[in-house]
Amino acid sequence: RAKASGKGQYRWFEPAMHKRAVQLLQLETGLRQALDRREFVVYYQPIVDLQTRNIIGLEALVRWQQPGQSLIYPDDFIPFAEETGLIVEIGDQVLQQACADLAQWQQQGLVDQHFTISVNLSSRQLLQPNLLGRIGSILQENGLSYKQLRLELTESSIIDNRAFVDGVLRTLRERHIQLSIDDFGTGYSSLSYLHTLPVSCLKIDRSFVSSITANPDSLGIVPLILNIAQTMNMQVIAEGIESEMHLQQLRQLNCRYGQGYLFHYPVPAEAVPVLLVQAGNRSSRTAEPV
Ligand code: C2E
Ligand code: MG
Ligand code: MG
Ligand code: MG
Repeated sequence: RAKASGKGQYRWFEPAMHKRAVQLLQLETGLRQALDRREFVVYYQPIVDLQTRNIIGLEALVRWQQPGQSLIYPDDFIPFAEETGLIVEIGDQVLQQACADLAQWQQQGLVDQHFTISVNLSSRQLLQPNLLGRIGSILQENGLSYKQLRLELTESSIIDNRAFVDGVLRTLRERHIQLSIDDFGTGYSSLSYLHTLPVSCLKIDRSFVSSITANPDSLGIVPLILNIAQTMNMQVIAEGIESEMHLQQLRQLNCRYGQGYLFHYPVPAEAVPVLLVQAGNRSSRTAEPV
């Protein structure tokens, strides 16, 4: 029946659906090739102390670089990589690369052992039974300690797999891996649940930072998050700081750490040593662990 109409063989496919299916197939093939060809590159955005502007750590942010093409940003392939499960391998490459880069910067004397690398972890990765083993061997291969790795998780990746993830997070924490909640405030976790998690840091989503105004009476939700973090004895990193006004208000509120275009854009690994040297010139490079 499907073959009835000659040329348009599968008539029940709407043309648009067909086109979409082909695109997804191409994307999946492309991502698999990208893994084999090592086309994923890691960019780094400094996390700074808001008082001193010292760089206390770096967040690893993946990009897809096909030869001769422009960079593809994570929002354009990560959701699909999560859907297909390819994120597990991509994430593994990112973790390997980030640890290898950090080890090199440490060997070059650019950073000390308090300096952390933050890696984003998707929920698919959290569900991998060998996650802990992989992290352990990657750190060991690179001569790094657990304390130097910080994992960024979103509220939803924790909540969606609550029962299982709880144990994973606890084990990570026992090994002294630091856990941060990314995009904090955009998810649906209840505060009472959050309180039970072995998480040491909240990253304030940039949507809340960008709605900060010059008027101290309308700072939005940011003061509330800072209060929560203080009550729960957690560190805070404000994301998406783009202006001096944002910085001033956050300092007023005693927010200690942040990242954003005001300080540094994400840069490729080759550009990191210069940033570290410049920031080190400002004052002591040694920062307390966050
Ligand atoms: P995220 O983890 O919340 O990372 C912060 C994003 O905000 C990055 O976008 C960063 O480039 C951008 N950003 C930093 N400062 C500013 C600022 O001042 N203004 C604005 N408008 N944006 C700023 P990017 O690199 O495109 O990454 C987007 C998201 O993709 C990340 O959000 C993260 O959820 C995901 N992602 C990136 N790398 C990985 C990875 O290796 N694994 C996984 N699972 N997800 C990743
Ligand atoms: Mg992040
Ligand atoms: Mg974020
Ligand atoms: Mg995000």
